[in-house]
Amino acid sequence: MKKLFLLIIFLIANYGNSQIISEELVKKHLYKLSDDNMEGRRAGTKGIEKAAKYIESEFKRIGLEKFEGLDSYRQNFQERGLSLFNVIGCIKGEEKKDEFVIISAHYDHLGTKDNLEGDKIFNGANDNASGVAAVLALAEFFSKNKINNRTILFVAFTAEEMGLLGSRYFGKQVGPEEVIAGINIEMIGKESPFGPKTAWITGFDRSSFGKIIQKNLTDSEYKVFPDPYINQRLFYRSDNAALARLGIPAHTFSTSPMDKDLDYHQVTDEANTLDPYTISETIKAIAAGTSSIIMGHDTPSRVEITKD
Ligand SMILES: [Zn+2]
Repeated sequence: MKKLFLLIIFLIANYGNSQIISEELVKKHLYKLSDDNMEGRRAGTKGIEKAAKYIESEFKRIGLEKFEGLDSYRQNFQERGLSLFNVIGCIKGEEKKDEFVIISAHYDHLGTKDNLEGDKIFNGANDNASGVAAVLALAEFFSKNKINNRTILFVAFTAEEMGLLGSRYFGKQVGPEEVIAGINIEMIGKESPFGPKTAWITGFDRSSFGKIIQKNLTDSEYKVFPDPYINQRLFYRSDNAALARLGIPAHTFSTSPMDKDLDYHQVTDEANTLDPYTISETIKAIAAGTSSIIMGHDTPSRVEITKD
């Protein structure tokens, strides 16, 4: 059994997903979600509505189920006078269907600024159309390779840029003890400071999640490292934080060089500044690296709940 399991991970890392998780698929999602007609995907605007419709249509095409208790892919809520919604799709598990693994990325961004000269649209290609492209590609991959004994929830969180509103709301709707892991993806469109075929994981030492990923990628060319920008407190600044505060081992994968990314939160964060190869290789590594958790063989340790 162990051998079979290792073989499956090896196949995912090296061959299994190369057909499904391709640069073409990544580019399709990336260019669509960061197009000017999405108007910067600010939560509560017409632009983000277009992005949500695209994500929903992809969930439908892929054949995802709806999340328990919802009659559509939308999880609606009101906050700050705005009608907001996360978009959630599901692949039910087999033997461990009551154990959830979340694969997430925020789909909102900053919108537009009318008083700017020239380009007024914050397209948010790296932040975070790249992460949503990963969620969609992973949904397609796990839907075609049904290795999940655990139930996978694919979540596009809203209003991250307004202070993690979508992930905080989502966190209130789940029993934290039922959630085995949170796999969050942010800004994977630029080559990592560690070089090609590498990514970093936030909060690496806060659970055994990162070590499990490293173990599963031992035979792969792709390597993951602890977050090199500890002073930027990135563990607390993305949607994983809303889940980690509940004790869930929820971490963020990223590749971006945060110390020298001149496009971060600028109108220049456009799809043509990104590297589809980095994105597709990173998605494949996330598929292989998390597969033992998704299959139910590994369970990361919980995050200690602190007031920090
Ligand atoms: Zn972001």
